Amino acid sequence: MSGLEKFRMLIGGKAVDALSGRTFESQNPFTGASWAEVPDGGPEDVDAAVAAARAALDGEWGSLTGFARAAMMRRLGDLIGENAERLARLEVNDSGKLYREMIGQLTGLGGWYQYYAGLADKLEGRQIPAPNPNYLVYTRREPVGVVAAITPWNSPLLLMTWKLAPALAAGCTIVIKPSEHSPASTLGFAELIEQAGFPPGVVNVVTGLSRETGAALAGHPGVNKVAFTGSTATGRAVAHAAADNLNKVTLELGGKSPQIVFADADLQAAANGLIAGVFAATGQTCMAGSRLIVHESVHDELVRLVAERAAQIKLGDPNDPATEMGPVANGPQYEKVLGLLETARAEGATVAYGGAADTGLGGYFIKPTVLTGVGPESTIVREEVFGPVLSAYTFTDEDEALKLANDTPYGLAGAVWTKDVHRAHRVAAKLRAGTVWINAYRVVSPSVPFGGYGASGLGRENGMDAVNEYTENKSVWVELTGGTRDPFTLG
Ligand code: NAD
Repeated sequence: MSGLEKFRMLIGGKAVDALSGRTFESQNPFTGASWAEVPDGGPEDVDAAVAAARAALDGEWGSLTGFARAAMMRRLGDLIGENAERLARLEVNDSGKLYREMIGQLTGLGGWYQYYAGLADKLEGRQIPAPNPNYLVYTRREPVGVVAAITPWNSPLLLMTWKLAPALAAGCTIVIKPSEHSPASTLGFAELIEQAGFPPGVVNVVTGLSRETGAALAGHPGVNKVAFTGSTATGRAVAHAAADNLNKVTLELGGKSPQIVFADADLQAAANGLIAGVFAATGQTCMAGSRLIVHESVHDELVRLVAERAAQIKLGDPNDPATEMGPVANGPQYEKVLGLLETARAEGATVAYGGAADTGLGGYFIKPTVLTGVGPESTIVREEVFGPVLSAYTFTDEDEALKLANDTPYGLAGAVWTKDVHRAHRVAAKLRAGTVWINAYRVVSPSVPFGGYGASGLGRENGMDAVNEYTENKSVWVELTGGTRDPFTLG
């Protein structure tokens, strides 16, 4: 007996092992120990999952109404709520995220299915007036087909849901490939699919240790749309694979989001927003507000406030409700963050707080870190850290603040902290980012579009329009007279 919790993949409605029989182990980043055994699926398992998804699309699921799909989605939303505790624990074990954050996230996750269930029966076409009165023209919103959903290790179930909920609403079928670093929660989630009443093959989950498994899915000729969340480098490879098949693609990628703090801002509120933006989830969020661009007159005071709060952050066991920051999620990520801190120091950064690993706790702990003495050219300011590191530098006027904020290939999110309502909206309009918070940070909702400019991605998830990313728009022309026409003219 290994004592590991065992999980199986979901393909064609069945809980299955990898065809090869191979498995791999998932580690708990807090204890450093393996805790779960999951199937090590490969391209042959991806083939089976895509075939199952296609069969489901051509079968019972494909002929269901939006009303019927919505009923199943609502049941799934309810089941997530009933199983929030177990799902949250799976996420905590797999990725070291805080139980106190994950239980909130999982309790709210059903809301995404409820929201998109509300759209499933409202995918209306239009009747379009044609210049030739002999034709009735209307459009139909049809499911794009089989969706490949590839997710990263931070918040696996939330980021999967941003794809699965609109895909189900649109009537698609899906093959999900979670990260090799946190595969278990998605497999645990898959156990709810049958209970919610979805026919076999509508939702499939394949896990695999090799990155080849994701590549096989992204480039699979049987897939019609690829929805990806992960790093910009992998996103580029996914976009190439999708382009080879001329598939639709949405990409949610990395970020280097600015928080601009003007001199008139409520500095206590801004400090709190900065803590939420870069230390919540140990900074391992795509939307991390990792660049503090602060007016020179309030730099010292704000840095002091943030550093003081950072010093009080309670690091520890992610399962302990008192813990505020858990470990970094895996070994490679831990090494990457420490390497970037070393580079920052070598380039002249000053550590206002943190700046190193916290070795007292075991696990991959890094102290919440506030750096000053950096500039727009510093590596730590240019590269996504994906860890608890805030880099602070100054501006003198609004134009400079915007120039600094937009001086990045990324454009996922950003914040403006000011009490001046005119300035707040002016700056929000000029920030090149998919989401701008004014006097707030790190708020998301099923109803609000989320996604990036530039290297942060392509397309939007969440909101009403996201469902259209999973549909084709078909035009239907109906000849009304029964007559014939000149076959050699158009129209
Ligand atoms: P990653 O790119 O390494 O991996 C993401 C997923 O892609 C994993 O499931 C992986 O197995 C798979 N994969 C790897 N190679 C592949 C290939 N060639 N083809 C298809 N799939 C492949 O990313 P990660 O390290 O797991 O996640 C961290 C990154 O995700 C960060 O850059 C972060 O900013 C980004 N992220 C973005 C958002 C967003 O919404 N914009 C949200 C969360 C995370």
